[in-house]
Amino acid sequence: MTHIITSLCLRDSGCVEVCPVECIVPGNPQEEWPWYYIDPDTCIDCGACIPECPYDAIFPEDEVPSAYTANGGEFISRLGLTGHYEGTNHHGQAVVLDCVKKLQAGEVVDLTEDTKANYDFFKNGPGYSSQG
Ligand code: SF4
Ligand code: SF4
Repeated sequence: MTHIITSLCLRDSGCVEVCPVECIVPGNPQEEWPWYYIDPDTCIDCGACIPECPYDAIFPEDEVPSAYTANGGEFISRLGLTGHYEGTNHHGQAVVLDCVKKLQAGEVVDLTEDTKANYDFFKNGPGYSSQG
């Protein structure tokens, strides 16, 4: 199994530093890969990244919710969305995303479709080359 970063990720980057096998990689170019991604072949399912995420974006693969109920005010970031987000990451650096949607309280979102992106980033995307 692996852990999965979902579209609730806002590139905070806090998870990267705690991963003991350094398998969390920022999406790049950001316009095509808006989150951070976990290399499924390297992740050892230790779970250390989960409490580090201020947006609760990380789940064990078999627990990614198909019906995530929004608290209200959080963002999802997916290609094709057109909302604008500005914030700062774990290091105080600016984060700007233009493919977000702010969720309303009670809105239900299927996050399982985000699982494929984690695999694709390393199979077909830039994660493959960055891993050498
Ligand atoms: S800590 Fe959360 S928001 Fe930050 S990069 Fe990791 S998954 Fe994304
Ligand atoms: S579960 Fe552990 S090994 Fe997997 S990405 Fe998170 S911190 Fe890294």
